Amino acid sequence: NLKARVGGRRSLMVRAIAADSKELRLSNGTGAKWFPASWRNFPVQQQPDYPDADKLKGTLSELSTYPPLIFAGECRTLQSRLAKVAVGEGFIVQGGDCAEAFTQFNANNIRDFYRLLLQMALVVAFGGGVPVVKLGRIAGQFAKPRSAGMEKKGDVELPSYRGDIINGPEFTSEARVPDPHRLVRAYNHSAATLNLLRGFSSGGYGGLMRVSKWNLDFMANSAEGKHYMDLARRVDEAIAFMSAWGLDLNSPVLNTTEFFTSHECLLLDYEETLTRLDSTTDQFYDCSAHYLWMGERTRQLDHAHVEFMRGIQNPIGVKVSDKMDPRDLVTMIAKLNPNNTPGRLTVITRMGAKAMREKLPKLIEAVRQAGQIVVWVTDPMHGNTETVAGYKTRRFENIRNEIEAFFDVHDSMGTIAGGVHLEMTGNNVTECIGGGSQVSAEDLESRYHTHCDPRLNAEQALEIAFYVASRLKK
Ligand code: PEP
Ligand code: MN
Repeated sequence: NLKARVGGRRSLMVRAIAADSKELRLSNGTGAKWFPASWRNFPVQQQPDYPDADKLKGTLSELSTYPPLIFAGECRTLQSRLAKVAVGEGFIVQGGDCAEAFTQFNANNIRDFYRLLLQMALVVAFGGGVPVVKLGRIAGQFAKPRSAGMEKKGDVELPSYRGDIINGPEFTSEARVPDPHRLVRAYNHSAATLNLLRGFSSGGYGGLMRVSKWNLDFMANSAEGKHYMDLARRVDEAIAFMSAWGLDLNSPVLNTTEFFTSHECLLLDYEETLTRLDSTTDQFYDCSAHYLWMGERTRQLDHAHVEFMRGIQNPIGVKVSDKMDPRDLVTMIAKLNPNNTPGRLTVITRMGAKAMREKLPKLIEAVRQAGQIVVWVTDPMHGNTETVAGYKTRRFENIRNEIEAFFDVHDSMGTIAGGVHLEMTGNNVTECIGGGSQVSAEDLESRYHTHCDPRLNAEQALEIAFYVASRLKK
């Protein structure tokens, strides 16, 4: 019976691809069955110009022999969790650096980020009463889209920094040359990061038994840190009670945790080489991360990124600003999720609170009319970027307001607010203004460490988690 169902699904898929191919043939004049390199037949945005094509080719061929970083079965587990989120039985907390940096790669940074994400998950699960999908923006978040190809300082103009997987952030002409060797470094950094995260998740560190150990040292005296510790004590009490009542404290539920990785699917040379055929399903998965999303700047319907994303079987996301036309969103969803599989596709809206109140209802209505199942997530960061005292920053108040608008709109439409996507760090940085920690415009210079966009610090991120929990509480 199950076999028949799977077979049925598959033939549906084949038909859907055939239909899609026809459409692509018409619009592009290319033969169009999907394969990992089929994106090369389409116009592409935001890719580097490598000066040495042979070196690139050699590096890619080396990478193609490296092991997958994640396994297809894990992607399917994640997709089943996201399918629950789609119907309101879960919530996604996705977060991490705007751009991971080779120079900030060390065990303490990974651990502190991991602790913070777990704290947030606990706050949301406890306060909101829903299972939380923990999705790190980590172990591969190395490529950045840029609004401008060149960066100018004084009289000097150089190619923009595009993330450590491509070139270097230093403002020198040498650093800004795209270097294929960085692909290998990014792979190795991702593998080592993932290894540590897996160790934390399965080796006891991420277990609920250690909930009070997750608080970061510098948070001990902050309001959010104290708020968190109150909650952790209540969890400890509940566990002690359950143990007295006969619960097995060695249970994996208490000692392990589920954690997934994600990054922007931007650098297609890299993503293609890590795309592998899964022997269980005979389908392709991009094994660089469990979940990939497509950015606002690379989501053109008839371009390479959409082509690549439609064929990989990982759960995927697409960022959507207020520039998105509701009809185009419906077309995009049909293309990326032709079988309307729950959990396959997340729409990550990022437009600022004001635009969200106006535009999101229209997007939701169009998707609803089309009968499409998606998970709605808010990225309250990228519609709220501004420059203050020469620093790219964001105001906590605007970030919080966008999340508020997101919940308000979904409440009024009767749809599901499925998650938050944040740029954040476990470090005590001063990159975003405001919040309980009262970072002021004058403070920005003191601990401004990001290589790209400003991140919430641990206290600000935890404050967001408490707000989200308050909105989920029924
Ligand atoms: C990002 O997530 O860092 C990013 C560039 O987002 P967007 O594509 O939404 O601008
Ligand atoms: Mn960013």
